[in-house]
Amino acid sequence: MSEQKAIATPFKTKEILNKYGFSFKKSLGQNFLIDVNTLRNIIEQAGIDEHTGTMEIGPGMGALTEQLAIYSEKVVAFEIDQRLIPILEDTLDSYTNVTIINEDILKADIRKVMKENFKEGQRVKVVANLPYYITTPILMKLLMDRLPVDSFTVMIQKEVADRMAAQPNTKSYGSLSIAVQYYTQAKVTINVPKTVFMPQPNVDSSVLHLELREEPPVEVRNEEFFFDLVQGCFGQRRKTLRNNLIRYFKDTLSKEIIEEILEKAEIDGTRRGESLTMEEFADLANTSYEYRKEQGQ
Ligand code: SAM
Repeated sequence: MSEQKAIATPFKTKEILNKYGFSFKKSLGQNFLIDVNTLRNIIEQAGIDEHTGTMEIGPGMGALTEQLAIYSEKVVAFEIDQRLIPILEDTLDSYTNVTIINEDILKADIRKVMKENFKEGQRVKVVANLPYYITTPILMKLLMDRLPVDSFTVMIQKEVADRMAAQPNTKSYGSLSIAVQYYTQAKVTINVPKTVFMPQPNVDSSVLHLELREEPPVEVRNEEFFFDLVQGCFGQRRKTLRNNLIRYFKDTLSKEIIEEILEKAEIDGTRRGESLTMEEFADLANTSYEYRKEQGQ
């Protein structure tokens, strides 16, 4: 990766800012990368090659886009900020394999865009330095839409990355860990100092790698109910699982039935939600689902 040419240096970034009189919009999470080593790390973690298609969310001035253009076959990048479009046309002028789409990723028809830009059956990976204010909605939307992508390698707020990759019995483990790990195998790969961004964010950052699973690791009768119940079990973290379930099923299942469900699922009600594995949550959800159905709910 040639450092002199790269967009991701403090010098080059300032040069572009001045040339266009560009001012950062905090409300759009605009913290641009100014460190080539960090980009090299992200590219390595993503595991892309010259046949890979890559999708980026928020190309900014093109720091990461440029490297994706060099190391992958085709890049499609969604940028919401219209002011950045002429800048990207300029900074990425010498790359013919980049398509920039001026759209909000949360509103875009991504499946259609993928069809139009990638070859049939092409391996596609999402690689991005995400706008922190909407990291979770973006990732959950892309996961729940079950897009035909292989993996996500994303720079996000450290605390959120830790929660997404957390294991049971840790402080970070919660309903977000279950939601993300239902679809993917999650790993925090690098912690990144604030100094690699311009302007520097207020929070620490990490690179999270999510490898999509072919099948969820557990079988659940009803996904919506499963995710909702998991959230209910983490409702009040200091309380026992039993108390959280009583609160969750308040108007629908009696305490006696909840005891029966716990017994049937072989889970001790005095445990805390944070100690349950995904398999145990699935047992609990499937058993509760049966009881609710029996009661005509
Ligand atoms: N990739 C660049 C880099 O690493 O230097 C910029 C990353 S910056 C953290 C996030 C980018 O996402 C900004 O360019 C911002 O304008 C863009 N963005 C924010 N919200 C967006 C949305 N809903 N859809 C698409 N892009 C968005």
